[in-house]
Amino acid sequence: MIENESLFIADSLWSATANSNINCNPLIGENETEIAIIGAGYTGLSAALHLSEKNKNIVVLDSENPGWGASGRNGGQVNPGLKEDPDEIEAKFGVEVGRRIVEMSGSAPELVFSLIKKYNINCDPIRSGWIRAAHSEDAFRKQVKRAKDWQSRGVPIQILNSTQIEQMIGTNEYCGGTLDPRGGNLHPLNYVLGLANAILSAGVTIYGQSKARKIVREDGAYAIHTDNGVLRASKVLLCTNGYTDDLVPPLERTIIPVQSVQVATAPLSDNILKSILPGKQAPSDTRRSLLYYRLDSDGRFIMGGRGAYTKRETLREQEKLRLSAHRMFPQLKDVTWQHAWGGYIAITTDHYPHLNLLDEGMIAGLGYNGRGVAMATAMGKVMADWALNVTPDKLDFPLTLPRKIPFHKFSKLGVKLTLAKYKLLDVLGL
Ligand SMILES: Cc1cc2nc3c(=O)[nH]c(=O)nc-3n(C[C@H](O)[C@H](O)[C@H](O)COP(=O)(O)OP(=O)(O)OC[C@H]3O[C@@H](n4cnc5c(N)ncnc54)[C@H](O)[C@@H]3O)c2cc1C
Repeated sequence: MIENESLFIADSLWSATANSNINCNPLIGENETEIAIIGAGYTGLSAALHLSEKNKNIVVLDSENPGWGASGRNGGQVNPGLKEDPDEIEAKFGVEVGRRIVEMSGSAPELVFSLIKKYNINCDPIRSGWIRAAHSEDAFRKQVKRAKDWQSRGVPIQILNSTQIEQMIGTNEYCGGTLDPRGGNLHPLNYVLGLANAILSAGVTIYGQSKARKIVREDGAYAIHTDNGVLRASKVLLCTNGYTDDLVPPLERTIIPVQSVQVATAPLSDNILKSILPGKQAPSDTRRSLLYYRLDSDGRFIMGGRGAYTKRETLREQEKLRLSAHRMFPQLKDVTWQHAWGGYIAITTDHYPHLNLLDEGMIAGLGYNGRGVAMATAMGKVMADWALNVTPDKLDFPLTLPRKIPFHKFSKLGVKLTLAKYKLLDVLGL
């Protein structure tokens, strides 16, 4: 179970099968460091790891413990790229910056798998490719265009017709899709715990149960106040994504936290396993209200999708996932569903992650729009580069000022209306 979490989203498969949790002592009294990192998920721990490789003096703080946020709860899909096609990215940011973003996001899975190898992280990594499954002809056409975009940049994305995708997934739900060889999947909590163990081994301190309550500028340094202590640092990296609060006011209003939920079966019989995802890929589909699914290393089937804001609606979304799984894979009808959990992702209105300059010595990286396993790891590296004084024009992701979302306080209502619209468009196949 996820500690200190509402019960209806706490029964995580990943917590039940984690190597061993890391419980860090809280910050008590005064401490000083060169770089303070707030948030011990992929973003914060990747930043810490890259900085520790350069022998920097760093301290990490988390309200709970490493991996408590989305990094310990997600689907474990290591996806390359952003929501937009490379051509669109280059058109939006200009060729030079756009190319760097395309390169950084496209090679993000490589960074993940290379860190796993370098630090010997035990998290069941599989690099079997990422299947994007098209739910309609229109979506398939867009997938083909995207694949051609990447192919023209040297990435051998395979276009799958309806027969091929049916063979790879084991359902006739889709009219085609793509297989991107850069992607794969892993045990998300064990990956983040592995990052935490790597930085602890390098001598970095992580304080758990240490929520940053207030940051004050004092004598050129930042004083981060927790319930029982103060941490002073020359630079601060904020890595709180979907769990961002009002610590640094504009940030909370630059993203919309949205829940994603997952359900998992008990280990499946060998007979059933033969008919579902024999290549062990983790597909996600092109529905706006998307479904993503996979098997874990013990042969459990896991299905994920968007959640809701209340307990009743969340339980209903979890049940809908089980029903979707039964529709797509009728052989799952009589299996036992063992786990159901969820967590918060951070949505941005432009669909891009953001690297925000909050103050002269303080930045934030967030807004992965539900695709942060690879991208948050890569963003952490960019944040480390910034802390190492790489100038903004040389960073692999543009550093911008935070932009508040207009009418942010109505965002929950906005999400509900948008999801309802998405569901309708999905049903219509548009
Ligand atoms: C159910 C689910 C499924 C997902 N599936 C996938 C997937 O398959 N593939 C994919 O690429 N992405 C997926 N994602 C998204 C991905 O998990 C996130 O984008 C990624 O984990 C973000 O990492 P992070 O380190 O930025 O934030 P998080 O892992 O959320 O960490 C933020 C941390 O900040 C801490 N914190 C917050 N405020 C404070 C404070 N004031 N003081 C101290 N600490 C603080 C929190 O305790 C938390 O530990 C999924 C997310 C969810 C919830």
